[in-house]
Amino acid sequence: MAITRRYSKKREAIYNALAATCEHPSAECLYQKLKPEYPDLSLATVYRNLKEMVAMGDAICVGTIDGKERFDACSHPHAHLMCRGCGTVLDMELGSAWLAHCRETEDKHTFAIDPYGLHFTGLCRQCMEAAQAN
Ligand SMILES: [Zn+2]
Ligand SMILES: [Zn+2]
Repeated sequence: MAITRRYSKKREAIYNALAATCEHPSAECLYQKLKPEYPDLSLATVYRNLKEMVAMGDAICVGTIDGKERFDACSHPHAHLMCRGCGTVLDMELGSAWLAHCRETEDKHTFAIDPYGLHFTGLCRQCMEAAQAN
């Protein structure tokens, strides 16, 4: 029997806000964004819904930065660039050669690679410019 996922309006709004941004926001950040439109929304509700989305495979947690978990909606496999200066998280596309290499590696080791599990740390443009200015 087919099970229809029934999401609340708030859940949908949280997911849509997450899918619409490339900022990899924290629960707090999404809460601040949605609060004007949903005045009765609580931070706990945003957090709980994000956790549920992660559990169902609709979203991922890209990591904990400055003590805050940062989230991303699941779209296509991609890697992340994480700024160790300010916590900015950018998407990095994985080319077809890289994806083919991943598939070969999965076969070789019989290992399922997480499609969002790769990340690099470094410095973003703002942080590089700030470092040069000093
Ligand atoms: Zn930075
Ligand atoms: Zn991402």
